[in-house]
Amino acid sequence: MDYENFFQQQLAALKAEGRYRSFAELERKAGDFPHAVQYLETEQRPVTVWCSNDYLGMGQNPAVLEAMRETISLCGAGAGGTRNISGTTHEHVLLERELADWHHKEAALVFTSGYVANWTALTTLASKLPNCIVFSDEMNHASMIEGIRHSRAEKRIFKHNDPADLERQLKAAPPDAAKIVAFESVYSMDGDKSPIGPICEVASRYGAMTYLDEVHAVGLYGERGAGVAEEQGVADKVDLIQGTLGKAVGCIGGYIAASAALCDFVRSYGSGFIFTTALPPAIAAGARTSISILKKSPELRAKHQERARRMKELLGEAGFPLLPSQSHIVPILVGEARRCKELTDILLLDFGIYVQPINYPTVPRGTERLRVTPSPLHDDKAMRYFVESLRQAWAKVGLKLAA
Ligand code: PLP
Repeated sequence: MDYENFFQQQLAALKAEGRYRSFAELERKAGDFPHAVQYLETEQRPVTVWCSNDYLGMGQNPAVLEAMRETISLCGAGAGGTRNISGTTHEHVLLERELADWHHKEAALVFTSGYVANWTALTTLASKLPNCIVFSDEMNHASMIEGIRHSRAEKRIFKHNDPADLERQLKAAPPDAAKIVAFESVYSMDGDKSPIGPICEVASRYGAMTYLDEVHAVGLYGERGAGVAEEQGVADKVDLIQGTLGKAVGCIGGYIAASAALCDFVRSYGSGFIFTTALPPAIAAGARTSISILKKSPELRAKHQERARRMKELLGEAGFPLLPSQSHIVPILVGEARRCKELTDILLLDFGIYVQPINYPTVPRGTERLRVTPSPLHDDKAMRYFVESLRQAWAKVGLKLAA
């Protein structure tokens, strides 16, 4: 086998389709969010980031940075082992307490990323629960899909955000089988929210446990920022809430919050928890500080929502085809991979605006888009500049705006 040739061919196929992923080489500037420097071969240039999942800029919050610096000075760089082998530091314990309190659950368990949290928790639960069937929303994230797949449990896919279809499927399943209903609260590419209460009601009627990914909601929704389940007043109906420390919390890591027995079960059986080095204590300290700030920052959340509404308003007025997002995510439909990439190249090169093209397989073919995430720090002036730049780029690639 000519391995090199195989790799080259596969890459050429991606390029031919216009969905080869190129990464901008950026250096974020602490204290100057959302601005960054782009490294090019021969120069460096300033850019404004419009697609960060550090939704509130907490990754540059001075108190978060100070907590991390202090913990590095105190404890050093890494955790020194898996959680089992000397890697459970005081900071991990404090962070898990903070997370349990955030979600009003008995316990929490931290992982090295949100992806690993989903993969491990779903693999462990679905493989160990007797005759388990997983009912999975058709738009679920890759980390949930992979976790379910790896468990080898039976999977049934229900229509997106459709409790009636879920009910039809639950009704048809053997009553004595263990069941998990897995879904998200904010779907990150369309920006729609799920009907958590009705889904949990249906699940409970058929004896299913509920597994909710709040990755794009923690820090951003609810009185204390615990997510959409808190916002909708239904957190107690959800058996397991999964979240990330890498997006609105501004650090890295993932977690589940649930009953003490459930967390202990995943801690004791989950290979993605047991067999990997724990997060550095400084990360745990930064995340805990960030969460403690987020709990008390409804004004920051309000500002974030206001900025997203404003961005949708300005883009809508200019005639751009917006997908009907209910959240802070602003998806602009392009509908074609090549043009999507051309648009973002023009925005970056000609206007210093960094926004990633979103192509298949992240979204279905024909729904390629720009996914814009305005933060509380993207002001009106920056937004007008974005809209005008996009208008010019839109025309340059031969796209038309609504009248
Ligand atoms: N769940 C959803 C819905 C996501 O969009 C993502 C990442 O984008 C993850 C889980 C994984 O989280 P993390 O980035 O912390 O690995």
